[in-house]
Amino acid sequence: MVSQTVDLLKNELPLEQESVGLPEDVVNGLVLVDIINGFCSVGAGNLAPREPNRQITGMINESARLARLFCDKKLPVLAFLDSHQPNKPEEPYPPHCIAGTDESKLVPALQWIENEPNVTIRRKDCFDGFLGSVEDDGSNVFVDWVKNNHIKAILVVGICTDICVLDFVCSTISARNRGFLAPLEDVIVYSRGCATFDVPLHVARNTKGALSHPQELMHHMGLYMAKERGAIIANEVSLVTPKKP
Ligand SMILES: [Zn+2]
Repeated sequence: MVSQTVDLLKNELPLEQESVGLPEDVVNGLVLVDIINGFCSVGAGNLAPREPNRQITGMINESARLARLFCDKKLPVLAFLDSHQPNKPEEPYPPHCIAGTDESKLVPALQWIENEPNVTIRRKDCFDGFLGSVEDDGSNVFVDWVKNNHIKAILVVGICTDICVLDFVCSTISARNRGFLAPLEDVIVYSRGCATFDVPLHVARNTKGALSHPQELMHHMGLYMAKERGAIIANEVSLVTPKKP
């Protein structure tokens, strides 16, 4: 029943995806959204998966592979880490990813990036990494990262497709459209590098305060809504050497 509903909606909202080749003669940046224990590692906290999850495991593997590729090429990488103060809850969600705990640390497959010189780590205490990049003096770590590195395209991966990934993509595209992010042109969301969590309706009904959140459907909707804003949705990505004229 559930999978039939998902198929029906996917037919009504078909999502065309592309195989994207990122040309190596311009700077491409990789943005990792919240690939931290509190959202990805089994049993790590209130918002962590309760059991191994194929979509989340796939997202971690693809993100780690891309992070290795970008680090080998010394390309800029920005990692957002959800990180909250204990006295500032983020409704409608239960307490999660408290600063300094294991929950707000990168998953084991990505911990190595903290020591890479091309990687910028940004802790944020809100869904949207763009707003979470605003400093007290009004500057923006993400905007500066794009400008200082002359980034032409960003590739976005992480969790959750329909929440933190989507919010960041929406804000970034609006900022780009208003001319705040030159020379950034393309915002690419890599579908196999994204994941969301799974709370089926029957579980949500029995959990106080929980919203229904079927994983496949919400992942699809997140990608679809990103595409509605003008993001490129990729099901394959590679770095390509441009041919000499
Ligand atoms: Zn949060």
